[in-house]
Amino acid sequence: MTIHFDLSPEQQKLKVDARNFARVHLEPRVHRIRTASGPGAAAAVMQEAHQAAVQEFGIIKRIAPPEFGGTAIGGVDAAVMWEELATVMPEIFDSFAGLMLVLGPIMKAGTPEQHQRLLAPLLNGSTPAPVAAMALSEPGGTANFDAPPPAPGLQTTAVRDGDEWVITGDKEWGAHLGGWDGNGPDLMIVICRTPAGISLIAIERKQLAPDNFTVVEHHDTAGLRGTLTSRIRLDNVRVPIENLIGAEGDGPALASQTFIASAAAVAVLATASMRAAFDDAYRFATTETRNGPVPIIDHRVVADVLSQAKGRIEATRLIAWRAMDATATGNPNAVEWCLHAKIFGSETAVDVINQLIRVVGIQAYKRSFPIIHRLFDALAYPIFQGGNISIRLRQLQDLLKSEEWNPLQASGMS
Ligand SMILES: Cc1cc2nc3c(=O)[nH]c(=O)nc-3n(C[C@H](O)[C@H](O)[C@H](O)COP(=O)(O)OP(=O)(O)OC[C@H]3O[C@@H](n4cnc5c(N)ncnc54)[C@H](O)[C@@H]3O)c2cc1C
Repeated sequence: MTIHFDLSPEQQKLKVDARNFARVHLEPRVHRIRTASGPGAAAAVMQEAHQAAVQEFGIIKRIAPPEFGGTAIGGVDAAVMWEELATVMPEIFDSFAGLMLVLGPIMKAGTPEQHQRLLAPLLNGSTPAPVAAMALSEPGGTANFDAPPPAPGLQTTAVRDGDEWVITGDKEWGAHLGGWDGNGPDLMIVICRTPAGISLIAIERKQLAPDNFTVVEHHDTAGLRGTLTSRIRLDNVRVPIENLIGAEGDGPALASQTFIASAAAVAVLATASMRAAFDDAYRFATTETRNGPVPIIDHRVVADVLSQAKGRIEATRLIAWRAMDATATGNPNAVEWCLHAKIFGSETAVDVINQLIRVVGIQAYKRSFPIIHRLFDALAYPIFQGGNISIRLRQLQDLLKSEEWNPLQASGMS
C-alpha cells in the first residue's frame, strides 16, 4: 500500500492556473478593498473580483456538479484551488461560499424540479455572476437556534397561506444577504421556524421587493473587508410552497450537513492566511537588519519562531486536505475530520500570525504593512462558520459522547 501526497498533473495545473488568476485579477484589487471608504465601497471592488472569477477563471463550472455542466472538482483539488486564491484574497472564498452552502441541501433534499428551477440558472451560466446566501444567523444569536422551548431559539418564521409560505424575520451576517445592489441575492435559503419544526425555504430574487425586503445595515468588519455582510429584514415575503427544501423539520440536519463541509474549508482559509503572513515575515527576516550587523533571521529566536510557524502551517494544510477529501468522498468520519480541521486550523492561524507579527516587530503595526491584515482576516476564522466555542466544540462533544465513537476510528487505526 502506498500513500502519497504529491499533486497529480491536473492538480498542479489547477494550482498554477489559480495562482496566475489570483496574481492578475485579485492582487491588484486587494489594496483597493483594504483602503475602501466603507463596506459598500469595498463590496463594489469585490464585485469586480467575483465577476472575474466567474468569467476569467470559470469558477462556477469548477464548483458545479456534472448535471449542470460542471466538473465538481474533488476535495483536495478544491483545497489547492482555494488556498491559491485565498492566499491573495480570502474574501473570494466567501463570495462563493453562499453558492456552495445552498448547493448542498438542494442537491441532497431538493426535488429534480427544484434543481432545475433554483440551481440551474445559477450554475449553467444563464445568470452571469450569480450570488447566493445561506441565511441562518440572526441578530439575537445563532448558537442556540435549535434549542427547545422555553428557549426562544430561531426567531424567523414561515406560515402557510394557501399555496404560499409567508416568511418574516431578521437575518444577519450571511455574505450576499443583500445582493450586490441591495435588492437581494439571486437565491437565498432561509432557515426558519415552520409549524412542524425548523425548515429550509428558498427565496428567489424575484420574490423580494422594497415593501417586503430591507437591508437594515451593512457590517463594518475588522477584516475580510471585501465580504459584505449585512442585516436584512424579511417582512411577509411570499414564496410558493414548492420552495420548501426537504420536509418540514429537516432544517437542523440539512443545515448541519452543509456547514460541516464549510468547516473543512475554514482550515484551507487558515492555511492561506498563515502562508501569506509567513511570506511577509520571512521576507522581512531575510532582508532586514533593523540597523544591526546581520539580517534578523540570523538571530536564533527569530529563526525558531519562523520554523515553528512553518511546521504548524504544514500541519494545518494536511488536516485541511484530509477533511476536504473526507467530506467530498462521503467518508463516514468526515464530521470528525471537518470539526477538528475547523477548530485546529482557525485557532492555529490566529496564534501563528500573531507570532509572525512579533518577528516583524513594530513595522507590522502599520496598516500599510500587509501582515496586520492577515490577522484581521484570521480573527474571523474561530468565530465564523459556526463559532468554535458556541457550536463546533459542542458538535465534537456530541460525537465523543455517542456510543459508536472510538478514538482510533477516524484515522483508520482502530
Ligand atoms: C464573514 C462572515 C461570513 C458569515 N457567513 C454566514 C453565512 O453565510 N450564513 C450565516 O447564517 N451566518 C454567517 N456568518 C455568521 C457565523 O457563521 C457565526 O459563526 C454564527 O452566526 C454563530 O455566531 P456565534 O457563534 O457568535 O453565536 P452567538 O449565538 O452569537 O453566541 C455568542 C457567544 O455566546 C456563547 N454561547 C452562546 N450559546 C452557547 C452555547 N450553547 N454553548 C456554548 N457557548 C454559547 C459563546 O461564547 C458564543 O461565542 C458569517 C460571519 C462572518 C464574519
